Amino acid sequence: MKKSVAIAGGGIAGLSAAVFLAEKGFKIKLFESSPKLGGRAYSFYDRDRKMFFDNGQHLLAGWYKNTFDFLKIIGTYNDLKFQSNLEIDFLDTYKQKLKLKSSGLRPPFNLLSALISFPGFTGKEKLSVLKLRALMNGKSFDNFSNTAELLDSLGQTGNLMKYFWEPFILAVFNTAAKNVSVNVFMNVISKGFSDENGFKLVIPSNDLNQLLIDRAEEYLLSRGNEIEKSVRIIGAVLNSSDDHFITEDTRKIKADHFISAVPFHSFRGVFGNTSGPDHICAERLRSSSIVSVHIFLKDNCNLEFLKDNPLGMTGLIGTKIQWIFKKSESYFSVVISGADELGVTELSSEEIADLCIEDLEKCLNGFSGEMIKDYKVIKEKRATFIPDNESDSLRPKQLTGIKNFYIAGDWTDTGLPSTIESAIQSARICSDHICKTEGI
Ligand SMILES: Cc1cc2nc3c(=O)[nH]c(=O)nc-3n(C[C@H](O)[C@H](O)[C@H](O)COP(=O)(O)OP(=O)(O)OC[C@H]3O[C@@H](n4cnc5c(N)ncnc54)[C@H](O)[C@@H]3O)c2cc1C
Repeated sequence: MKKSVAIAGGGIAGLSAAVFLAEKGFKIKLFESSPKLGGRAYSFYDRDRKMFFDNGQHLLAGWYKNTFDFLKIIGTYNDLKFQSNLEIDFLDTYKQKLKLKSSGLRPPFNLLSALISFPGFTGKEKLSVLKLRALMNGKSFDNFSNTAELLDSLGQTGNLMKYFWEPFILAVFNTAAKNVSVNVFMNVISKGFSDENGFKLVIPSNDLNQLLIDRAEEYLLSRGNEIEKSVRIIGAVLNSSDDHFITEDTRKIKADHFISAVPFHSFRGVFGNTSGPDHICAERLRSSSIVSVHIFLKDNCNLEFLKDNPLGMTGLIGTKIQWIFKKSESYFSVVISGADELGVTELSSEEIADLCIEDLEKCLNGFSGEMIKDYKVIKEKRATFIPDNESDSLRPKQLTGIKNFYIAGDWTDTGLPSTIESAIQSARICSDHICKTEGI
């Protein structure tokens, strides 16, 4: 008989654990408390506008190896657009267009060459780029208490921060450099340099449901697995002869293995009484928000003023908006990461729209707020956790000390920031260990 695995949480960690294990022949019972799968990465239908929106633009990078494996299994890997070389267009508040473009050299020279040739840096700043070689030779930076201090010690000041490190760090870590642990920062840098595609950007060509959710659900259901939505797991009895999850409607869910894939802020409430992981204080992790605004232009206006580039993505410098994603000739979305730190999350939708218009008018030649027909603001208040120094000690391992209980989720100890790759890497660790235990 097939061995069974019960999973609490149908976000990307829970779904990918289910898919990895189903592929190896396990019988999956997946429970998701909300009516939809996908957790913090999903699309929803807007009845007024008759279209799907993602809850926020998700970008991947060439180092998302576990994510690519997951997408290959469910059959959506080819829905990703890969950059052939790292290339990003920026616009600043002087309406200057600046291109960060790497040569086809091997890492780390691809990134170094991109920075050295970037038009926004002074001669002295270009010389400071060479100091970044220290990041690539395995040196320990334990003596720095955060990434801002580390970068400062490497001469990364002025325009180097403004035009490169600040946008890069906000995009990857969703917070400022002073809140990023050196450990997590260095893990991303070494992943980026681990192969020639590491720092290239990868963008989904479909919405998040099509890329990550729908086909994973089909994959699981077509193989006889069970998915129950709108069913909350409220506790577990483990380390006993009668191991089970308990559902809100008081059912006992028995299985051979159990995975928690709930977010950090729910973990203690659900599994805190389970002997073993009671030392986990993940609820002390801090969250950071992301605000996205979808902007539609009037019928006689178009996005000519937005320079076309292969990914349809432009960075803004010196503004609260950090990225613009061109969706069609009359529709684009903008992203504000670290939105609470910037004081944006608490603003009303109208105030956020005004702020966007101000930023866009400052940077885009030919743009005026008068061109806007309609907009939609999406606030994700708990988009990511903040990967600060304290988080290093709060993130639990995936193996718990209870022989058949595992923890997956972007917030577990993967050494990575709060990303799809961290969620899927954690799922991979759980699934590999379950397979090993069962001799598969
Ligand atoms: C706006 C936005 C933009 C982002 N941009 C990027 C990006 O560009 N690149 C990137 O890599 N990442 C990005 N992320 C982060 C990424 O979405 C997350 O890291 C990832 O989705 C986390 O997945 P998870 O499964 O670990 O957690 P979650 O998505 O939080 O999933 C946990 C699931 O558990 C369910 N649950 C909770 N309690 C219970 C219970 N008791 N019983 C059953 N189910 C329960 C929840 O409903 C949820 O579905 C972004 C996130 C947001 C919000």
